[in-house]
Amino acid sequence: MQIREAEFLMSNTRVDQCPAPTLPEYAFIGRSNVGKSSLINMLTERRGLAKTSSLPGKTQLINHFLINKQWYLVDLPGYGYAKTSKVNRVAWTRMINFYLRQRLNLACVFVLIDSRHPAQTVDLEFMEMLGTEGIPFVMVFTKADKQSNSRTQLQVSDYMKKMSENWDEVPQHFITSAEEKTGREELLAFIENVNRQ
Ligand code: GDP
Repeated sequence: MQIREAEFLMSNTRVDQCPAPTLPEYAFIGRSNVGKSSLINMLTERRGLAKTSSLPGKTQLINHFLINKQWYLVDLPGYGYAKTSKVNRVAWTRMINFYLRQRLNLACVFVLIDSRHPAQTVDLEFMEMLGTEGIPFVMVFTKADKQSNSRTQLQVSDYMKKMSENWDEVPQHFITSAEEKTGREELLAFIENVNRQ
């Protein structure tokens, strides 16, 4: 897929204020600092589209972008920032739960995972929730350029092993690097394919 147009539409805190659910939607989420903004900018080839390294714990918003006038890309606020206050955490959980459960046009959630770390409880629990709720998701391992391929494979296997303890099927996964544009074609082909269904 060629990205011809990538346009910021709106930010808000409520699912009922999101754009009309008339186009398929793909949401990006992960722990703060996982490389989400960098990945979104790499996919869309727009350097400043998603704001990189915004202060974790600041205003938590659902950010909508319109791509090629054909689908929505959504940048969701990250989770798992240690210094987040309890109030913020509760607000995040509420907003994300509403969004994930009520967004009718949600085609797939991309759960971003830092490929340098072994399986993290917070990521496993989030995916466990998605699985239980029947929300379609895939795993996107980030920052693969920071280590050897074999090291990345080791971490991916660790996740797959842990996921397979609870689920018969493990989700599809992608290995990416925003720095080297790894995984871009694969992710865009995946979206194009889902859009066609
Ligand atoms: P976010 O908080 O999840 O949006 O993460 P950012 O996109 O702001 O990235 C956090 C940090 O990781 C920044 O310093 C980025 O430059 C760095 N980073 C993100 N993606 C990559 C990547 O693919 N490779 C490398 N080497 N660094 C990355």
